[in-house]
Amino acid sequence: MPYLNSGSRRRKCILSVLVLISVCFAALLVFGKEAPEGNGAAPEIQKAEGKLHGLTIAVDAGHGGYDGGARAKVSGIWEKEINLSVALLLKSSLEDMGAEVVMTRDSDEDLATVSGSGKKRSDLSSRLKIADEAGAAMFLSIHMNEYRSAKESGPQVFFRAGSESSMLLAQLLQEALVNNLEPERVRVAMAGDYYVLGLGIPSVLIECGFISNPREEALLISPEYQRRLAAAVADGVAEFAKKQALS
Ligand SMILES: [Zn+2]
Repeated sequence: MPYLNSGSRRRKCILSVLVLISVCFAALLVFGKEAPEGNGAAPEIQKAEGKLHGLTIAVDAGHGGYDGGARAKVSGIWEKEINLSVALLLKSSLEDMGAEVVMTRDSDEDLATVSGSGKKRSDLSSRLKIADEAGAAMFLSIHMNEYRSAKESGPQVFFRAGSESSMLLAQLLQEALVNNLEPERVRVAMAGDYYVLGLGIPSVLIECGFISNPREEALLISPEYQRRLAAAVADGVAEFAKKQALS
């Protein structure tokens, strides 16, 4: 009958619409739920990752090429090699926090453009030029220390006297190194007259420890300790960025 037919069509129609709404709602629940997960990290992790967002940081692995630097007492490994390992680990730690990192070298090479007596100065100038041209906001030079007495140990950060921001960076890095690595000998950040600290940006030279001390050398050449070193330096940099409101 027309009336009944029309009623049944209406019911069918309402039913179809209800089914369609249910399907859409179910799809929304399933896919809608996946969307934030697809973005990955939880909010607090995203925040930690972005600590250094927008900052360009120059990381300098000291020595390289013809210039080996100091030589580890027991293993005979050159300082330039340990510096590069730590510098590369530091690069990833800083990048994990959102920084742009420019390396002065990422292989075993020096950056001198002249030979003879001006070679060392030319090597160092090239490093500063790389940081300057990249518009770096910070310069971190990685080194290993040595001393004639095998007893000396402990990391130490140097800054140029007269630069307030470099001093603050050095102090925060020193604190991070001491807190994270718990060295036997606790040192303090010190002023030092190093050519590579001459850029007008916060600059530090980090002596990670003494490779003239067999016990500290064993730590400094181990990948695990190198990772802890890099993480500690990155922590200090993040603290500095927070205090200076850089990022
Ligand atoms: Zn050195």
